[in-house]
Amino acid sequence: SVELLKDRGLWRTGALINGEWITETPHGKYSLNNPATSALLVELPVCKEAETEAAVEAADRAFRAWSQTTAKHRYEVINRWYQLVVEHKEDLATLITLEEGKPLSEARGEIDYAASFLQWFAEEAKRVRGDVIPAPKPGQRILALKQPIGVCAAITPWNFPAAMITRKAGPALAAGCSMVVKPASQTPLTALALGELALRAGVPAGVFSVITGNSTRATGGVLTGHKLVRKITFTGSTEVGRILLEQSASTIKKCSMELGGNAPLIVFADADLDAAVEGILVAKFRNSGQSCIAANRVLVHDSIYDQLAARLAARTAELRVGNGLEEGTQIGPMIDEAAVAKVEEHLRDALSGGARILAGGRRHALGGAFFEPTVVADVNLGMTIAREETFGPVMPLLRFRDDAEAIAMANDTDFGLAAYLFSRDAQRVWNAAEALEAGMVGINTGLISSEVAPFGGVKQSGLGREGSQYGIDEYLEIKYLCWDGL
Ligand code: ADP
Repeated sequence: SVELLKDRGLWRTGALINGEWITETPHGKYSLNNPATSALLVELPVCKEAETEAAVEAADRAFRAWSQTTAKHRYEVINRWYQLVVEHKEDLATLITLEEGKPLSEARGEIDYAASFLQWFAEEAKRVRGDVIPAPKPGQRILALKQPIGVCAAITPWNFPAAMITRKAGPALAAGCSMVVKPASQTPLTALALGELALRAGVPAGVFSVITGNSTRATGGVLTGHKLVRKITFTGSTEVGRILLEQSASTIKKCSMELGGNAPLIVFADADLDAAVEGILVAKFRNSGQSCIAANRVLVHDSIYDQLAARLAARTAELRVGNGLEEGTQIGPMIDEAAVAKVEEHLRDALSGGARILAGGRRHALGGAFFEPTVVADVNLGMTIAREETFGPVMPLLRFRDDAEAIAMANDTDFGLAAYLFSRDAQRVWNAAEALEAGMVGINTGLISSEVAPFGGVKQSGLGREGSQYGIDEYLEIKYLCWDGL
């Protein structure tokens, strides 16, 4: 697979710790497979406690010098990293498709998105400002300084192997922090290539390290339990987020959590149906439905339900399924067998409760981790498919009769990441947008992610925000100076 890359220096097969590539550890290797073909891609070293501790200690040493550099210097280094990511877009996209499976066109889009966080936060480095606050007594001055929090640990998922790293490393490094990344065991190659480009950009040894391996308990235990780590930033499931929060409690770490969702997408009777169809398809099927902001429940007004269902089924049946490396592929494989089994289980439960398949519904003829893009109608909120995050290419359709019922159904979940609505009535849009219990609301669009906007959830979907002018605050502490006797 290395021969698919133009720059073979981006094919890195060891962990990056303190600026050095570690290709052997005492714990052996684990195999990485291509989800589209099941073929072995590479074997990578397994890191455990000792290697993770070494990365944390190196990050602590590196933090001392990096945090003392000027904001302009950090801007220059991170901006160079941004430029290198853009220059190597094709190779990075190929790595994503090889290890994650998404179509190359989507992988290219992810690299644009990933690069945008480096560009944005390079700029933001220069805009971290404190305050001078009017004091309560004469002869006194009150100041608020913003300082980098220290060593940060990032634990990232496989579904966006590049963007979930730059969205964390960009603001951390801009603020003056150092970072140890533990990428998902399924998608380390993209993370390691980003590490190689960071070194080429001049990010000093230890400021950005990448741990490899499939020993998540060992590495996660050190990252959440180590006194020198001041901040944990995680993207993944609510279940694992809860474990990491518990483990971080003993050392009182600052935590950012981007967790699971169960996004409702509401189509009101007055919606532009052409726009709604396009929006639903992209909000549902991007990355084969394996996105935390994927529309998990499509709620449609009774008066347009049958018409919209027929249009969605027809379009879904036309989607081209295949190996993501082949141009024209619109739906790649799912990440692994367990993911396919979960989709089957959700569908089985829905069908036994009276739901109807309008398109797809089975494993794809290509075999392996491929599943047919599916539309299923007559779903209700009692079914597992509407209660849990399916994380697959399945679109459940639910029916509602008035606005109040739609909002109540949308909010009937412990999650609160994204929500979407389609309507042309300004009053209805405003009322619904305010009433939805979600961190993000897409209005007449299924695409909401951008480096300029605050990404994050409410309820059990998470803590904190990433991207935008707020994102860097997660990596800063406020120090208050009370200066008297002036
Ligand atoms: P996903 O469904 O995206 O794989 P997970 O929450 O299972 O979501 O995993 C997200 C990340 O968390 C991955 O990098 C995974 O290896 C890591 N992880 C899973 N379990 C633990 C754990 N107990 N401690 C630390 N990290 C973990």
